[in-house]
Amino acid sequence: MKFRSARAGALVPVAIVLTVALASGVAPAAPFGPERPAPAGEILLKLKKLRTLGSVLYVAAHPDDENTAMLSWLARGRLVRAAYLSLTRGDGGQNLIGAERGEEFGVIRTEELLAARRIDGARQYFTRAIDFGYSKSPGETMAIWGHDEVLSDVVRVVRTFRPDVIVTRFPTNGDGGHGQHTASALLAEEAFTAAADPARFPEQITRDGLAPWATRRLFWNVFRVNPDQRDPKLPKLLAVDLGAYNPFLGRSYSEIAAESRSMHKSQGFGSPERRGTLLNYLEPRLGAAASGDLMDGIDTTWNRLPGGAQVIPPLEEAVRRYRPERPAEVIPPLVEALRRVRKLAPSAEVREKEGEILEAIRAAAGLWTEAISAHYAVTPGSEVTVSVVALNRSDAPLTLRRVEASWGAKPAENLGRLESNRPVKAELTVQVPETTDETNPYWLDAAPGRGLFSVADPKMIGRPESRPTATVRFTLEAEGEPLVYEIPVQYRSTDPVMGERYRPLEVVPKVSLHLAGGVAYFADRKPKELLLTLKGGRKGVAGTAGLRVPAGWTVSASQPFSLREEGEEMKLRFTVTPPEGAAAGLLRAEATVEGTTISHDLLRIDYPHLAPIVLTPPAEARLVRQQTTVKARRVGYITGSGDDVPEALRQLGLEVALLSDEDLASGSLGSFDAIVAGVRAYNTRKRLAALQPRLMDYVRNGGTYVVQYNTTQELLPVELGPFPLTLSRDRVTVEEAPVTFLKADPVLSSPNRIGPGDFDGWVQERGLYFPGSWDARYEALLSMADPGEKASEGALLVARYGKGTYVYTGLAFFRQLPAGVPGAYRLLANLVSAGKK
Ligand SMILES: [Zn+2]
Repeated sequence: MKFRSARAGALVPVAIVLTVALASGVAPAAPFGPERPAPAGEILLKLKKLRTLGSVLYVAAHPDDENTAMLSWLARGRLVRAAYLSLTRGDGGQNLIGAERGEEFGVIRTEELLAARRIDGARQYFTRAIDFGYSKSPGETMAIWGHDEVLSDVVRVVRTFRPDVIVTRFPTNGDGGHGQHTASALLAEEAFTAAADPARFPEQITRDGLAPWATRRLFWNVFRVNPDQRDPKLPKLLAVDLGAYNPFLGRSYSEIAAESRSMHKSQGFGSPERRGTLLNYLEPRLGAAASGDLMDGIDTTWNRLPGGAQVIPPLEEAVRRYRPERPAEVIPPLVEALRRVRKLAPSAEVREKEGEILEAIRAAAGLWTEAISAHYAVTPGSEVTVSVVALNRSDAPLTLRRVEASWGAKPAENLGRLESNRPVKAELTVQVPETTDETNPYWLDAAPGRGLFSVADPKMIGRPESRPTATVRFTLEAEGEPLVYEIPVQYRSTDPVMGERYRPLEVVPKVSLHLAGGVAYFADRKPKELLLTLKGGRKGVAGTAGLRVPAGWTVSASQPFSLREEGEEMKLRFTVTPPEGAAAGLLRAEATVEGTTISHDLLRIDYPHLAPIVLTPPAEARLVRQQTTVKARRVGYITGSGDDVPEALRQLGLEVALLSDEDLASGSLGSFDAIVAGVRAYNTRKRLAALQPRLMDYVRNGGTYVVQYNTTQELLPVELGPFPLTLSRDRVTVEEAPVTFLKADPVLSSPNRIGPGDFDGWVQERGLYFPGSWDARYEALLSMADPGEKASEGALLVARYGKGTYVYTGLAFFRQLPAGVPGAYRLLANLVSAGKK
């Protein structure tokens, strides 16, 4: 398997890199798009923030763990630099809004965090750690991640962001539940010491230019607590009121927090806005004591930097001079402050403050800059027009000296003075380098390990997302001082319903290759026809395309193709023949165009609350050959919150019909050999409760009904099966946990004899939300347990009801089938065949 190495053509860092998409306003539902100037109240807040140099890093394990009220209060109230370090991207979570799982889901949750940060004003960092699913212990977590690697990443983020204070969401004692939660607190405490020690992770200092950093103190943001009833022997808590109101913004931090938290839509975290006092408590854990305030004894003024004192007077002057109706009057002192900041010794903090001053100037001038591509997607080696606009909406004397693109293009120079409210426009004809990599999240460029993403360029570690595909740099001048704004190239369109929308410019393959399903399962020795879909990334692409198979497998020859239009699709059929015995391997699609080999798919994910996501994963599918008999022929599927189980049923040779509520209400269910309910069907399909009697009739009359896991939340008020059963939160998270067969039952022996080997090679977990108690008329067939825990017997329950069979299973088929786990296919074949002799 070949993956791209480090991204070529990365941008050369410039002296001033703005915090694109992180510093935008607090206006409701801040969508993805160009940086907008702040309104008058917020400009004053920005000016005050320029005088403050403190910083706080909040640390937890997942997107949605963070205390958004704390982050809003820190960034917008205390005016310190605030950041959230989420160790993982939440890849292992459950997706309430779509069918994406694993890495793709991690990209969605990354974007949800970035959307939340656009609202609360904090920055975002990650480590390389993968959210591998629920874990009951920090020991298991560290063993899978690799303790030293993740610690090194936390230390890197501390040395990069240089916080005065670290706050952990979870305690180290395990009360946080999830093993990854406890691990996040343990690692934050270790990093507190390690980041200051030049002997720890020295390559970050010698190779990557970071310096050791001593954080002053570390707190745990304790859960709900009544400080008066706390054990007096425990450390004294520090109280902070996160419900305070900010008159500059017209909102309280808890109101901002609710909006920020509601960005975690994939987790169903729409949150109510709380008003009034909201006390939170901090327990001192490490470092210098604090008597009344978390920043006690920390100089948060410019005086903390050598030579910093001289920056204070012009910044004070800007605050004094500020009048909301004439914000541009603060530009002269801001430019003077900029001049003085640029004379200080460079550091991450100084660079960031320089960016903030530039943003304040942008806001004071009402300055609008945009770089809009004529197409939303380009291919390597192509040419695209980028229209740039600079617009000064004040009478401040600003001159536009130069506009240049990060890719090859003739810069536009000496564009003259920016007259008030008169847009200055230019067009750049940009050459997309032939060596440019296709757009992809940087942490997915190489195949991930079990516990860590592999990132070739260590300087990318910690960053929330890839660098922008292309940028345009505007060089302005005010009072003789250069002002540089570097912004990403975007595409703009108008949706008739949603209005104006922006998306980042994408680089896509000249031809993308898509293999349906991700798994080709061979239940017998018969050859199968596989469909490869080719899609043109630009006009006029021709070449040959074929499949590469592992040794022992054979495939029909490569075929020529020709696509005239951008977006045009073509399907090619290939015949794949499996080896005689059990086998598994990876199949890769390849196209040859103009002498180069292309082997990537193109995947777009678009949700209204997020910036559009583009991935270009390897065009691969898993080949599995495992003798499997299926007696059923026709299966009806009740889709729940979305899963790929129907495709797996088709791979077994079954005819699958997706059943609508209408089909369930009045269709002829008797024509199905089995009906399968998708994951969380009873949580998400409101009409299922009313349709349940028909499903039970179907079983009584001889049908087979297989229900996959539902959660205990928002469960419909209906008995899930013919007899009572109660769901619990029991789960078995260790995917290797031994499985014991409790009873001999046809479901475990016919048509395929299921043995311990069928539970080999499972991924992420055995199962979840197992029933905790059930009527004696159910047979419990399997028992399993996580290490050191009581066995759970609810993973697979079977009941004979009338002439039919009812199955409830919390086994994680929805994870195993797309991963090509043969035992899961064999067991599923038995479940749907239960009614056939
Ligand atoms: Zn969590």
